Amino acid sequence: MYGSLYRHVLLPFFDRVVKGRKTLDYWQQAEQSQWWPREKHAVTQLVNLQRLLRHAETTCPYYKKTWAEHGLSTERLQSLTDFEAWPLITRDTIRRHRLAMRTTVPMTRMTKATGGSSGEPLQFDLSADSNDRRTAMMYRGYGWAGGAPGSKQLYVWGGALGNVPTWKKWKTSLHHRFDRHAVISCFEFTPEKMREHVAKWNRYRPEVIVAYTNPLYEFAKYLQRENLTVTSPQSIIVGAEKLHDFQRETMQSVFQAPVFETYGSREFMLIGAECPEHRGLHLSQENLYVEILDDDGRPTPTGEEGNVVITDLFNDSMPFIRYVNGDRAVAGFEQCPCGRGLPLLKKVVGRQLDTLETPDGRKIPGEFFPHLLKEFPCIRRFQVVQEAVECITLKLVVDGGFTLADRETLLREVHSCTGPVVNIQLQLVDDIPLTGAGKHRVVVHAM
Ligand SMILES: [Zn+2]
Repeated sequence: MYGSLYRHVLLPFFDRVVKGRKTLDYWQQAEQSQWWPREKHAVTQLVNLQRLLRHAETTCPYYKKTWAEHGLSTERLQSLTDFEAWPLITRDTIRRHRLAMRTTVPMTRMTKATGGSSGEPLQFDLSADSNDRRTAMMYRGYGWAGGAPGSKQLYVWGGALGNVPTWKKWKTSLHHRFDRHAVISCFEFTPEKMREHVAKWNRYRPEVIVAYTNPLYEFAKYLQRENLTVTSPQSIIVGAEKLHDFQRETMQSVFQAPVFETYGSREFMLIGAECPEHRGLHLSQENLYVEILDDDGRPTPTGEEGNVVITDLFNDSMPFIRYVNGDRAVAGFEQCPCGRGLPLLKKVVGRQLDTLETPDGRKIPGEFFPHLLKEFPCIRRFQVVQEAVECITLKLVVDGGFTLADRETLLREVHSCTGPVVNIQLQLVDDIPLTGAGKHRVVVHAM
């Protein structure tokens, strides 16, 4: 009852009238355009790209100068393939040229920041219109999983840290009630708190769980270990961290609900999300132009992994044009049986930085450690720290049952992958702190 009232009356009033946003119009349009055939999406993307390039070329000093140096102008963009000639940008480009990347056209803008691998936040600008458009993409993508606005949602993710003033707590709590959200903070995963979280879940009886991947997996393992149960939601939406197949299986079996993977980032919000067919992640195609490129900047062949490169078609305030975000993924080429014309990302492999290199030139994918360590039920949390190219420390938070035999097996398995020249240290610790955003960093490079 409240859900329907919220979606059809309260949210439109708040969003359109009070805030003057266009989010709901964009959402409505996106609900239609998701069924367009691929060709129509491609034509629309080309038109939107041409508009964006013209805007950047005439009003953003950085792009104007850089493209002129490359002999590029918008007139040259006659097909999506032509776009491959445009230079790539990285976090470093933004760090060095942020002000020159801004448009000189006055517009309502907001400043956002990402965490970043080095812990150094990256600031960027976002136009209000772009914010409305990306929120609409999130409403639609979450909607595929039954998590559109108005559904009763429980969030398992990083809550506010430090001393939050009481008035702010009240305000947040009112907002949550208004939106039908409740929150479990993944910063508070102590044994006592875990029991409280279980009670909260069962009292609240959420329809949808929205969670960071690793904390929810940790929560599922806790329920398994303690032989506890929670009420089953209709669906589970995970994101912010890579989802491994074994994590999906555990969550589905413990919570008795389907898991929907999403992929997003602070720079773009929702990049892709699974529909009920679970064939990959449908891209937020109306808002973003996503490319998967090899290390030489060419599109990857079918089924091969590559670098994720994103262009935001509407962030006019500070355009992101061919931004290499540091993630690796595999493009999908087949049509999804759901009938949506939005292309698929077949698989998000994870962060490029999670790969470890050994002195004899081996590359160990970030997936290796989560897969190996899941075989040790007493390991609750872990982190791999590469201190030097020949030295890796494995930090472990373990329960009482971690035996000497486990230790030997673990070392043997890790050595068989890294090769004998790498020195592996096991370090048992009480806790492995999450990042400021509440994410669990699997691999840390301390070199
Ligand atoms: Zn689909």
